[in-house]
Amino acid sequence: MIADFLSGLVHWAEDAYARKDTPIIGKWIGEANIEHHVKPRAFVSRGWWASSWDLVLASVLVVCGAWWMKLLSWHVWLFALVSANANQVHKWAHRAPHENGRFITWLQKFKLLQTQRHHAKHHSGEKNSHYCSVTNFLNPILEELDFWKGFERFNEKVFGLKRKLDPTVKVTVTNTVAS
Ligand SMILES: [Zn+2]
Ligand SMILES: [Zn+2]
Repeated sequence: MIADFLSGLVHWAEDAYARKDTPIIGKWIGEANIEHHVKPRAFVSRGWWASSWDLVLASVLVVCGAWWMKLLSWHVWLFALVSANANQVHKWAHRAPHENGRFITWLQKFKLLQTQRHHAKHHSGEKNSHYCSVTNFLNPILEELDFWKGFERFNEKVFGLKRKLDPTVKVTVTNTVAS
């Protein structure tokens, strides 16, 4: 659940604040995320390492840190395993059952992994909800709490940090004429 929450937190931060022109991470993250909103299936043919290397490195650091602090338990291993594969699980949610094979389809059917129907909610409407990409459990709770939008309101109020427009979302502008 912590890995699922962190997948949502990182995804939300990227979708809300990273764009092509963002320093350092712009090209690598900002542009890639917007591209994923334009062509959601563009990454499905990519291999495991190509979509997971950054998460694998972060997970290795977590395992090493836990080992160094003598806190390495099965919980840490499980967290690292799920975190390292979060983008792969996301990819499976964009693939059809015949592309995923029986085992992954079975895990999705029993809701151990996020389903295609569930992840489609992130790609519809304003694309500003259902950021967690590992399971179907956490998103409904966070949406009920209005967690991400609340976080954005907080950031805007406290740090003056505004959510950036998603160019892939059509905005309806209503012009009001002052009388
Ligand atoms: Zn997104
Ligand atoms: Zn997606």
